[in-house]
Amino acid sequence: MLNAMTIDVEDYFHTEAMSEAVHRDQWTTMPSHVQRNTERLYELFAEHNVTATMFFLGWVAERFPSLVSQAVKLGHEVACHSYWHRAVFRLTPEEFREDTKRAKDAIESAANVPVSGYRAPSFSLIHGTEWAPGILSELGFTYDSSINPIAHDFYSNADKPRIPHRHSESGLLEIPIATARLGGRTFCVGGGAYFRIFPLRYSTWGLSCVNEQEKRAAMFYLHPWEIDADQPRLNVKLKSKMRQYTRLDSTYGKLEKLIQRYKFGATKDAFAEHWKS
Ligand SMILES: [Zn+2]
Repeated sequence: MLNAMTIDVEDYFHTEAMSEAVHRDQWTTMPSHVQRNTERLYELFAEHNVTATMFFLGWVAERFPSLVSQAVKLGHEVACHSYWHRAVFRLTPEEFREDTKRAKDAIESAANVPVSGYRAPSFSLIHGTEWAPGILSELGFTYDSSINPIAHDFYSNADKPRIPHRHSESGLLEIPIATARLGGRTFCVGGGAYFRIFPLRYSTWGLSCVNEQEKRAAMFYLHPWEIDADQPRLNVKLKSKMRQYTRLDSTYGKLEKLIQRYKFGATKDAFAEHWKS
């Protein structure tokens, strides 16, 4: 069973948790770690023959175009993670269209290939953003992976389908982040903080549930800053510190074990059946 390995390519200061300390006007003044961290992931993936989908922040693609062209050269799929990393539910439809188009243009001009996948910052395609899939379709996207169907303090989407489906009206394909069901509850087992903070066996339990019991591919995600124990510590509230800085030092090793144990590829390969008409 081939699962999807996806990386949201952003720097440590782009996250929602750090936005209280660093405004986007200050981004250019911050010491950047995204190139080094992403290249470490490229090396790890090359070593284990993993191809991935790299969801680039448009801001990163514009400043580090060689990271994008390198991804294409290495056989990875290149996709879009917005331009300014703002939650979709805080934008008007027009602001969303402008941000997404700017990001897609920046990524495509660095990649020299068309971009057809989108992931919203912080899984922010929640209730109230029903207009967004239609705009993504109009801009030429063929799939979205912005729904993490769990209860969460920032992006709750617990009532959304856990499996790939099409948005009504636009027909845009949605590939949700992997979750597992136990005792009537839904657990996020598709990466990020859940992979980084909990022991590896939590994620392997979850991926085995999806692959072996449900006989489905799992959508897994991580960020380059999650393997970076040396990232500068910013002055944010305790909850944000816990969210961003917990177990950064063990994530790389866990990721290597995970890709040795499960098969991973780009989204279009792992979920290929959904592109067949
Ligand atoms: Zn992000």
